[in-house]
Amino acid sequence: MLRLRTWPPLFLLFSVAFCLSARAEGLPELTAPLTLVISLERPLPAETEAEMHREMDKLMSQASIRVEWRQLSDFSAGTEVHDLVLVKFRGTCRIQATPVFLDERGPMAFTHTSDGEVLPFSEVLCDRVGVAAHSAMAGGEFGHRDELLGRALARVLAHELYHIKGKCNEHGRSGVARKALTGRELISRTFDFDPADARRMIKADD
Ligand SMILES: [Zn+2]
Repeated sequence: MLRLRTWPPLFLLFSVAFCLSARAEGLPELTAPLTLVISLERPLPAETEAEMHREMDKLMSQASIRVEWRQLSDFSAGTEVHDLVLVKFRGTCRIQATPVFLDERGPMAFTHTSDGEVLPFSEVLCDRVGVAAHSAMAGGEFGHRDELLGRALARVLAHELYHIKGKCNEHGRSGVARKALTGRELISRTFDFDPADARRMIKADD
């Protein structure tokens, strides 16, 4: 689960990662792709989709994971995939021209679990991500809001993929896997996984 960070990071003092320990050696070669099968309640703007794909490629390459995107509507029974995650984008994946007020304490995305086990099924709450991204924009960034929303969606979804690929409910101490991110961290030019968290995703797959 990922929330918007709107309070001082005191809770980080008490967070302890119980995930698998990170591996020290270098990263392996890119392996078989991780297939993201997505369903959208409403279509994404072209700039949003392009930037989401670009940013996701960059983030997941830190864990040597190659991502392929498929629409649920294109997916037929019997289609063979190596590694599949279902992703549902709920709400409106578009930043509204007029302000929308939402409770910022709610999650921006979450991943389903069963008996403590992380399942490959995530939901992204587009309206909350849009409000968080919009709240951090300044100056000329408003002119690129569709693109910046795509970047924010990629980081929110990559956070959930960390839980799935890392097979853990705990959070990282820094970077995309942290428990809560600020609006600025969602849209800034560069914001990555902590290398230890990226390695955790690889280790859990061994
Ligand atoms: Zn989380």
